[in-house]
Amino acid sequence: MADKPQYVYSFGPEGADGNASMRALLGGKGANLAEMTAIDLPVPAGFTIATTVCTYYYAHDCKYPPELREEVAAALAKIERAMGAEFGSTRNPLLVSCRSGARDSMPGMMDTVLNIGLNDRTVEALARQSENERFAWDSYRRFVRMYGDVVLDMKPRSKTEHDPFEQMLDRKKQAAKARSDSELSARHLRELVAEFKQAIKTHTGKDFPEEPLDQLWGAIGAVFGSWMNDRAVVYRRTYGIPHAWGTAVNVQAMVFGNLGDDCATGVALTRDGALGAPGFNGDYLVNAQGEDVVAGIRSPKRIEETLAREMPDAHRQLVEIGQKLERHYKDVQDIEFTVQRGKVWMLQTRNAKRTGFAAVRVAVDMVNEGLITPEEALQPKRIPADDLNQLLRPIYDPASKREARQAGRLVARGINAGPGAASGAICFHAADAEALFQKNAQVELILVRRETSPEDLRGMKIAKGILTAFGGASSHAALVSRQMGKACIVGCQDLEIDYAAGAVKVGAKAFRQGDAISIDGFTGEVFAGQLKERPSEIVEVLLHKTLAPEKSETYRRYAQLMSWVDRHRRLRVRANADEPEQAAEAIAFGAEGIGLCRTEHMFFDHIDEFREMILAEAVGDRQRALAKLLPFQREDFEGIFRAMAGKPVTIRLLDPPLHEFLPHAIDEQTELARRIGTKADAIARRVEELKEVNPMLGHRGCRLGIVYPEITQMQARAIFEAACRVRRAGIEVHPEVMIPLAGFAAEYRHQEEIVRQTAAAVLAEQKIDVAYLVGTMVEVPRAALCAQEMAARAEFFSFGTNDLTQMTLGISRDDYASFVGHYRENDIIPNDPFQTIDQAGVGALMRLGVDGGRKARADLKIGICGEHGGDPASVMFCHALGLDYVSCSPFRVPIARLAAAQAAVAATK
Ligand code: PEP
Ligand code: MG
Repeated sequence: MADKPQYVYSFGPEGADGNASMRALLGGKGANLAEMTAIDLPVPAGFTIATTVCTYYYAHDCKYPPELREEVAAALAKIERAMGAEFGSTRNPLLVSCRSGARDSMPGMMDTVLNIGLNDRTVEALARQSENERFAWDSYRRFVRMYGDVVLDMKPRSKTEHDPFEQMLDRKKQAAKARSDSELSARHLRELVAEFKQAIKTHTGKDFPEEPLDQLWGAIGAVFGSWMNDRAVVYRRTYGIPHAWGTAVNVQAMVFGNLGDDCATGVALTRDGALGAPGFNGDYLVNAQGEDVVAGIRSPKRIEETLAREMPDAHRQLVEIGQKLERHYKDVQDIEFTVQRGKVWMLQTRNAKRTGFAAVRVAVDMVNEGLITPEEALQPKRIPADDLNQLLRPIYDPASKREARQAGRLVARGINAGPGAASGAICFHAADAEALFQKNAQVELILVRRETSPEDLRGMKIAKGILTAFGGASSHAALVSRQMGKACIVGCQDLEIDYAAGAVKVGAKAFRQGDAISIDGFTGEVFAGQLKERPSEIVEVLLHKTLAPEKSETYRRYAQLMSWVDRHRRLRVRANADEPEQAAEAIAFGAEGIGLCRTEHMFFDHIDEFREMILAEAVGDRQRALAKLLPFQREDFEGIFRAMAGKPVTIRLLDPPLHEFLPHAIDEQTELARRIGTKADAIARRVEELKEVNPMLGHRGCRLGIVYPEITQMQARAIFEAACRVRRAGIEVHPEVMIPLAGFAAEYRHQEEIVRQTAAAVLAEQKIDVAYLVGTMVEVPRAALCAQEMAARAEFFSFGTNDLTQMTLGISRDDYASFVGHYRENDIIPNDPFQTIDQAGVGALMRLGVDGGRKARADLKIGICGEHGGDPASVMFCHALGLDYVSCSPFRVPIARLAAAQAAVAATK
């Protein structure tokens, strides 16, 4: 008989059915609860309903597998045995929680219900047992409210709706003259329960379910249902989590942090998640339940500041647990715990989310502490290559900050939850941020809120920075913005936000929506107005040389990491650069060559001469104009060759349509005619002649050099004359001349011949030998399809994935913005194909190109120079394809190097 699938996995004193390797089946939370049980950490007994039930549920019209009820009943009985309590008992009632838990954590995106099992009878038993009537009724009113919000869907949906339970609670507090929830008595709470239930009856037409098993199944259904709520779907789309994975559901015996002053609840990290400093840290609240901390409703205390004094024994237990967890998981852990009458209980552990700063520091420190190897430090999960970007980000110029402080513009301070500098206009609602972004995608906003919730996710993505009045370093705003790499300050308690008036008061100062503020996520400072930004320490050390390497710890860790990176990667990394300064930047960031020098960019500085060349009617005129351009080009190439000092430089011949260089407005045409001594109507006529309906597919690339061979001749001469000069100065040069947009081998051959003939002539004139390559871009699908034929003559290929994507997908690279958002929102495509290579389509053509090319020429050098060359997922794909190098913008070179090393390390596993 085939094995029956197992849907429910228990953990508790009788052992754990699962372990940490079973994330796909049990979700992250469930797998780690089992693992923590197995390594003897204090975990309340419970069980996990597998993710396979979620997939079954959605495939079967929201029904469960028939075996599930029996398995849940058996697992519930195990919890009862472990806790010595009974679900629904009126003497010794067991209460449970029900929480989501996907394979990859999705903080706050799905639902949770606590205190399941309470009803009008069990609440009395809980009161007797705990000898604390207020606690019992407090737990009950929380449960009824959570059940109403989560299971019965009574949560507000828009910014104008109110939570009915919140309103009833506020009214009760007013009537009781209570300033906080904790001042409400058992009698008030008992009344609230009755009022909440009445509201549920009015809203749903049904009574609140008193039967504990009905409550449990309601909660399980709500958690599975929350997998498909809007915010969870948006989150998955943002972080590339497949919708098909499904969530697990964890049901676990309740432990209580709200039984009295020897109880607490908290969230903590084993190291700092913002900057990565060692040491246990986090937030806790005495006499409270878990959700209070995460929701940021009461401002919690800092563990590292007061817990050792307030609860020394619990603090000691926590520190020991933290150390054991780090030794076991070999990574920073993010935990949830409850202290119940002095004993610490673990409710969750997971690898902590962290900023790019923290990621680098933690990985490097852990290698230096002997906890992990450099190879492990290079796992993409530890340092997502894109996050390295944060270390290269601008910070505020200290002088500008000092000035602002002296001018009284430092208006408030909060908790520095996400590093980085962000200045922008105040915006109070995520929906408003979205609307402003629709109008202007460049809009710079700071989202200012009392606290954030998962509903704010879209607005947070748009904002440059996030500022909240409440919440601690582990609140929703802090976690999410850190993960997004945004500057963020939380718990800025001086802010008095009035959403209705669209205003915020800070002491005597008042700001309105749209006013500029600046937040420093490194220090937690909030300034009025804009501040001047300044480059990161790494940029200062590497580029500006304004900071000595030994003065910057950030730089030193970066350098150590990059030494491992360079030891492990196979792919070479080049930069796309058109100017000597860019080339120097690229080298500082570790580029090993230039993969794309777009020569047309060089003409912008000599636009009049270039226009004269385009306007020339006869070959002779054109050659005369080209002769004027030659020295400029030669000088440009010389500068780049010198800057690259012997590293290969790929120079691409002219690519864009000529009409792009001509003026279109009549007054500009008249002015140009005056400057170059021609007639305005001659210019107008030429503009008209060169006009194309679809210039991207028109007279550009090698088509220009074929129709006007004298342009190619001039460019080749400039390249080789420059190379000879530099060579003569004793500097090595390795020019690689690249033919753009070739699709037919004959196009390539035509251009190659001009280049080789010109090179031969120049080298003979100069009596010097310079080794060089001639190769082609592969950016027209035909070039990939006929790669073997192209490589018969081409000495290298470089994938121009911008055009290759455009032409493979038939999507204009300039016009797709109008629909790509819609495509992403509706999951038509998983990524923006102009940012991340469409591996199945464009990638298949690339594979054909590599295979065909290397069939003709086994040692064919192959690279990529489209924008994808700096995208980590695409870099990994290029590694797998066997490319020799990737080329990207200078600031992305470190990211591409890291991604290349990560690909190499992953491939050896
Ligand atoms: C490309 O098409 O990928 C490329 C690098 O060339 P350009 O972006 O200049 O068209
Ligand atoms: Mg191109």
